[in-house]
Amino acid sequence: MMGGERSYLDYNATAPLLPAARAAVLEVLDLKGNPSSVHREGRTARALLDRARARVAALVGADPAHVTFTSGATEGACHVLTPHYRMGRTPLTVSHLYVAATEHPCIREGGRFPADRVTALPVDPEGRIDPATVKTALAAHDRESGVPMVAVMLANNESGVIQPVEAIAPIVRAAGGILVVDAVQAVTRIPVDIDVTGADFLILSAHKIGGPKGVGAVVSRGEIMMPVPLVIGGGQEKGHRSGTENMSGIVGFGAAAHIGLKGLNEEYMRLRALRDRLEDGLRERVPDVIVVSGGADRLANTSFFAVPGMKAETMQIAFDLEGISLSAGSACSSGKVGESHVLKAMGLDAVQGAIRVSLGAETVDEDVERFLLALERVTARRRAAA
Ligand code: PLP
Repeated sequence: MMGGERSYLDYNATAPLLPAARAAVLEVLDLKGNPSSVHREGRTARALLDRARARVAALVGADPAHVTFTSGATEGACHVLTPHYRMGRTPLTVSHLYVAATEHPCIREGGRFPADRVTALPVDPEGRIDPATVKTALAAHDRESGVPMVAVMLANNESGVIQPVEAIAPIVRAAGGILVVDAVQAVTRIPVDIDVTGADFLILSAHKIGGPKGVGAVVSRGEIMMPVPLVIGGGQEKGHRSGTENMSGIVGFGAAAHIGLKGLNEEYMRLRALRDRLEDGLRERVPDVIVVSGGADRLANTSFFAVPGMKAETMQIAFDLEGISLSAGSACSSGKVGESHVLKAMGLDAVQGAIRVSLGAETVDEDVERFLLALERVTARRRAAA
């Protein structure tokens, strides 16, 4: 974020609000009508809601009728991760949830499943889940008890690693299971199409793509198999999520989705060049640096690295004092610092945490320069001790 005193390199925690999303939010704040009202003011609100729904659907190649707005990805996870489904009007029981060990806590916690019905599946040293691991787990699933559900994220929030969801989907389908994909970090960064992924449900969040915080969506592939709602009441969102819609949030989300989809390819190339420059500079200055998931397909905006002998939390504070905002581990929940379950799942327990740098719309060359200059000072103590 150049021009300012500081460089914000923590887009995977939250992306700054895009100007177009901000304008959309402000405009809607003055809107009088409730989108459920039939009068003119209500219809005006409904039209804006419909446009936002179409824009969010377009982001993932879905039918707008299959978008349910929520208060964010965490609520989206609690909505779809449940043993209680309906196939039309017929109840459908989901008896077990299988998640990748590196999922975001909102998935790993298992939503509405009891803890003993959630299994974490291991990942390889690059942080990828092998489709064969899913196949083995589902082969042992007891079909008599109900159908299995698998939740695998498209891109990891810490390492940016991209999971082989397309290869996992046919395995889940063959086992008669339901596939839930957390696409929070992937949308606007790589092309996402619900049919191509093979997901039954995608989970999205506005604030990771330059929309407002506290709004998200669940996108379903069809409309017949749906979870028993989490939030019940007045029947908004076709009964899937009651409560008067968060109009300013949703319209801001729609604006961010629209912009993100339009500039996706160019932005990918731009961020990839910046990230590569950053990692080249990193390897030059810290030859023994460990770039987590460095050998895997990963998001172009993310770099997750460990400096042997240096504590990530200490480095994060030192970077902050140097005017650089980044994360140690995921650290996007209430300022909490602790060990990274992602590093642990990848067998990287020996390092003392890792630093996550994540770039986005406002990141420019000077931010990378500032980061590399700061890195020299932050790691100087280690060099002096060596
Ligand atoms: N899933 C992933 C991959 C995330 O990075 C986050 C961000 O914290 C979430 C889910 C939760 O999103 P929200 O803040 O909208 O609840």
